[in-house]
Amino acid sequence: MSPVSFAFSLRATDGHARLGQVQTAHGTFDTPAFMPVGTQGTVKALLHRDVESVGAGIILGNTYHLMLRPGDALIGRHGGLHRFIGWSHPILTDSGGYQVFSLASRRRIREDGAEFQSHIDGSTHLLTPERAVDIQARLGSDIAMVLDECLAYPATHDAAASSMQRSARWARRCRDRFLADATVDENRGPVTNPGQAQFGIIQGGLFPDLRAESVDRTREVGFEGYAIGGLSVGEPIDEMYATVEATAGRLPPEQPRYLMGAGSPEDLVECVARGIDMFDCVMPTRNARNGQLFTSEGRLNIRNARYAEDERPLDPRCDCYTCTRHSRAYLRHLYMAGETSALTLNTLHNLSFYLDTMRRIRDAIALRTFEIFRQEFLRLRSVS
Ligand SMILES: [Zn+2]
Repeated sequence: MSPVSFAFSLRATDGHARLGQVQTAHGTFDTPAFMPVGTQGTVKALLHRDVESVGAGIILGNTYHLMLRPGDALIGRHGGLHRFIGWSHPILTDSGGYQVFSLASRRRIREDGAEFQSHIDGSTHLLTPERAVDIQARLGSDIAMVLDECLAYPATHDAAASSMQRSARWARRCRDRFLADATVDENRGPVTNPGQAQFGIIQGGLFPDLRAESVDRTREVGFEGYAIGGLSVGEPIDEMYATVEATAGRLPPEQPRYLMGAGSPEDLVECVARGIDMFDCVMPTRNARNGQLFTSEGRLNIRNARYAEDERPLDPRCDCYTCTRHSRAYLRHLYMAGETSALTLNTLHNLSFYLDTMRRIRDAIALRTFEIFRQEFLRLRSVS
């Protein structure tokens, strides 16, 4: 039986906001979608059951972490990432590039790839565009990402131009490898990716001419979807939104658009308004573990003494397990006492808030009331 092939269907639009559905070999998910980050094959502090219960249609796995531990070959031998971790829904894997570039002094970038030292045991590895494709083939994710060069912010036009051009050359090499017949190369090991799609990544910093050239060169290679990379790295928010708007406007409307690494609840709403379909960010999960919680009226830090006797739920508008069952006072007590359930309950709420926001965004686009939703969403959060 041949695997279900990757497809994207655009169901409705409202302004630049888009309602769609992505079909993968492991089922469908609705867009705009937020993908919880499951770095090491698990969303930190949650069970997959919880991740499913809050309505996540797709999760993200990090190639860098998985290739080092437990290793992509081991995961391949166990039938791929879905089977290994016990998650039957769609998975997107990144290329590992972002983490490698974040290693700063422990990595060296060459034309053939990125050489780096493992943060676990100091061993040296070379991540080439081809290897990034092969690793993701062994992991068997539904959506694989090309290896790109991640530029630090701020960058000069020259630096951003040569980095973008290298990313374009690497995109071509990734696509060639992806399309090559895996059966002709025994060195690639077990491949568990029938039906896998590959997304290209647009780079070019905050320079409109470079973003435009990157779109042209990446579209020329041709991918099942396109991501916007190199944003949410410390640039002013207005410049990020302007770059998203200009870049999304140049991408093919019939294919999904993924904004990598963003962002805050406001970023999700603002970037949907600019035509983005997919998001991922560690913010809801990482902040939850630090006690910072997102609510319909803004953020609150559960460590704050003012919540010590607060009997209200975190967010009266939220119907997640945490909010229907527990008070702020109890959640603060658990956090201050260092109980692991604090991490679980906080993460469950933050992810619920993110995924519920995405659901409300999709409903609003379907009803063509997205602009009203957007104004109300931002207004509620500005009065807190
Ligand atoms: Zn909640």
